Amino acid sequence: MSDDAVVRPRPDAAVTLRPASGGRVEGGFWGARQRVNREVTIPLGGERIRESGAFANLELAGGAGGEHRGKVFADSDVYKWLEAVAWERGRAEDESLARSYAEAVRLVAGAQRPDGYLHTHTQLTGRPPYSDLASSHELYCAGHLMQAAVAGRRATGDDTLLGVAGRVADHLVKDLPGDALDGHPEVETGLAELYRETGVRPYLDLAARMITGRGHERLPLKGHHGPGIRQDRVPLRDATAVEGHAVRAMYLAAGATDVAAETSDRGLLDALERQWLDMVATRTYLTGGLGSVWYGEQFGGPHELAPETAYCETCAAIGSVQWSWRMLLATGAARYADLMERTLHNAVLPGISLTGDRFFYVNALRVRAGANPDDRRAAARGRQDWFGTACCPPNVMRLLSSLGHYLATRDDDGVQLHLYANGTVRAGDVLLEVETDYPWDGRVEIVVRETPDRPWTLALRVPAWADGAAGVNGEPANPTATAANGPGGYHRVRRAWRPGDRVSLDLAVRPRLTAAVPRLDVARGQVAVERGPLVYCLEQVDHPGVIVDDLCVAGPDLRDGAPLPGLPAEVVPVLARGRAHAHRAEDGGFPYRTATAPQEPEHAGPVELTFVPYHTWANRGAGPMTIWTPMH
Ligand SMILES: [Zn+2]
Repeated sequence: MSDDAVVRPRPDAAVTLRPASGGRVEGGFWGARQRVNREVTIPLGGERIRESGAFANLELAGGAGGEHRGKVFADSDVYKWLEAVAWERGRAEDESLARSYAEAVRLVAGAQRPDGYLHTHTQLTGRPPYSDLASSHELYCAGHLMQAAVAGRRATGDDTLLGVAGRVADHLVKDLPGDALDGHPEVETGLAELYRETGVRPYLDLAARMITGRGHERLPLKGHHGPGIRQDRVPLRDATAVEGHAVRAMYLAAGATDVAAETSDRGLLDALERQWLDMVATRTYLTGGLGSVWYGEQFGGPHELAPETAYCETCAAIGSVQWSWRMLLATGAARYADLMERTLHNAVLPGISLTGDRFFYVNALRVRAGANPDDRRAAARGRQDWFGTACCPPNVMRLLSSLGHYLATRDDDGVQLHLYANGTVRAGDVLLEVETDYPWDGRVEIVVRETPDRPWTLALRVPAWADGAAGVNGEPANPTATAANGPGGYHRVRRAWRPGDRVSLDLAVRPRLTAAVPRLDVARGQVAVERGPLVYCLEQVDHPGVIVDDLCVAGPDLRDGAPLPGLPAEVVPVLARGRAHAHRAEDGGFPYRTATAPQEPEHAGPVELTFVPYHTWANRGAGPMTIWTPMH
């Protein structure tokens, strides 16, 4: 059984870094999440997908036919789940996983037409293939199939699904109309990875054609939306900002980065870098979440980042991680790993409960007291068992299963550690062991277990939030500054290593207050609490007798608190001095008054504020919650 990367650039690709193979998470923060994913979420996901009719669709398409159930993209739920199962089998083979995998692959293979075409909704409705690409999600599903198939080959050595995906891709290369585009990007990155795995160049050429062909208003318009919602307004090469449906934008950008890397297209890579920087500067929530407009699940305008109307689809966060990883491989710049870390902890993880069996599709950053639980936007109902549109849960499953592949890279100079998780990293003839309680604690111990005799460089990422307050073996880390993204970078240690050598990195994981730039006016006068890579929030459950909406931070002093009942013992709350605004009788009327002589707000008295990591919210019931808190 082999163990390999999610993204594996070809040897001749213009890529700075190569993913290290065999990264394994074991124990610690992410190990606990992987365990729950494997033991609870993936089996439950298989059941929910069965109940949705997605497996039955495959069976019907491969047999007597019948009525398609669920959404047009139901097949993609199966493929994402299969990808998760494949990565899990690569981590540790398991009879039950192997059986579920084989059974699902049998259904997928059986549903494929003899000519290679595969999309159960199109097949069962009798519609001609590729006749409604703006809405049918045929290629979107095909892209997910390709990614699952590549995972199957790399994680288990099993080629069955790869054969199916290859025949789907061959059908696309042969029969897809010349200028055809899918309304929902995804196939581009799937085709690129299938090319990387098989070496069949027409797959990459087709992906490149779809990247270049986008942005010319060729897709039919939908509802009140313009062409921008499907990234068809401006060619990617000319765009200065991400726009439209956030998940589509991220998947397209990931695919475009693959194409740029494999074709050495510097102009396209520069355009993507420009768009990424603008996205971070103007359209990214503190959590790393993306998408602030509900209508069309879209990006808003610059600094349009209202917390209570945040859309922040879990899939958009996963797409962001995928795009940033590809940009990191192509450039080696720390800022991409910084955003990945922020997004993984604060925009992907909130999408799944600590128990692994309940999900958020939309991740609100504020819920008010009295919010209508029927209002999806309010998130006041808490996480859900599953969704009619179930894109997010299996997306979380496959990301958690493959997380080990995002920890480290290598190049001719040595090994780079980007994300800190307890476990091991195999990078060529180097084997590293990483011991850490990160993100709860900032100490990361790296033990060299295997090393070649020649000198090489171990590069350790110092996150931008650590602000230089990092030490390696007791000396200040002096990170390399990355001009475009403030402090942060990599601390590099070059030497002839010996087995047993040990390097300690100390990152300043302590609570801090964060403010937004003035133009982000919805957060003006407010602060957020962060600790290490984690963004915190206030939850009603920790503040009996007052309403979260009335709370404010009274001073800058923050301290770690004791474990809270109902949350895992390792979760570190942050305590702060606060006050509650007085809500007077006359405030019950028209809630405005003259501002010519602003008065000091009246306070009902001191309150101890308890902040908890945002990803742990809504695990003790859902209620009012906020990321931003006024400070005065
Ligand atoms: Zn989703």
